[in-house]
Amino acid sequence: MGTIICQSCNKTIDVFEGEKVMTLYAKGNGCVHCKTADKKNK
Ligand SMILES: [Zn+2]
Repeated sequence: MGTIICQSCNKTIDVFEGEKVMTLYAKGNGCVHCKTADKKNK
């Protein structure tokens, strides 16, 4: 199983099936968590 981590907020944004356990960092900003935090700040 793999995990996709947001590079900006370090939160897990998605998981995917896979033979190996691995972690990928999503490039850029704009996951759900980031957008939510952004709205709160503004
Ligand atoms: Zn994020």
